[in-house]
Amino acid sequence: MNLSDEIIQLFSRQQEQWPQLKHAISQQKQNQERVLTWGNDFTVVVQCNPTRIVSTGAGIDRQTIEKRPCFLCAENRSSSQEGIPFMGKYIILCNPYPILENHLTISLHSHVPQRIRRKIGDMLSLAAELPEYVIFYNGPLSGASAPDHFHLQAGRKSPILLQGESELRTCMMIESNNKEEVEELFEEVYQYLHYRQPDEEEPMMNVIAFTEENQFKLHIFPRKAHRPRQYFEEGNKKLLISPGALDLAGLIITVREEDFTKLNKQDIEDIYSQVSLQII
Ligand SMILES: [Zn+2]
Repeated sequence: MNLSDEIIQLFSRQQEQWPQLKHAISQQKQNQERVLTWGNDFTVVVQCNPTRIVSTGAGIDRQTIEKRPCFLCAENRSSSQEGIPFMGKYIILCNPYPILENHLTISLHSHVPQRIRRKIGDMLSLAAELPEYVIFYNGPLSGASAPDHFHLQAGRKSPILLQGESELRTCMMIESNNKEEVEELFEEVYQYLHYRQPDEEEPMMNVIAFTEENQFKLHIFPRKAHRPRQYFEEGNKKLLISPGALDLAGLIITVREEDFTKLNKQDIEDIYSQVSLQII
């Protein structure tokens, strides 16, 4: 059985065994969405997803992280949660707070910090095995709610998630049918971003990997801020939006109904310009 089929079986088994997951998936299907377009250049889908408050509202400062039991370590996971081994070092899990259809978390066995540099090849291997999925990475200061435990995420592809460069935010694109070549080009991009942000433990970024017509594709979204100004505002000016890879691609998650209703094109342009790092 191939990995795609194993995942479908995992989802049906886990929904039987784990009521929280079954509930979350049925809620996810009812989430409201709005579509905003910038001519033919760019489309944003805004999704209202209240369960994502666990991630959007997450404190990721060192103290908060050190105090909480890591939810990706095997000993702290729900006893109902099962997974599929991958490459001998990862476990593929159903994400209990889904944004996408068949939303997965791919967790490394060992509790090591979120760093992508030497793991881009693993991301591409998973993309090759799951042609109907996007595989995505949120850097430790760019949307990851477990910056202390390396993990990737994945979910069913949709056109909105495959959008490349646009005027609203930077997307650096790598494409080749040769996996090693993609890894080498990623290393060049990484070195350039490190030069731009020498003080960061890892240059801030989100990455989306997928395959299309036997080509490996990487979309790298360089970042300069974790959360926009509006996240920290109070009252009417507040927008509780904490962008990660999917938001940068074009699927913006709001956790509060009021943000979902009022978010307009100017807000979106403003948020992108605050969090996306311009590459000249
Ligand atoms: Zn852990």
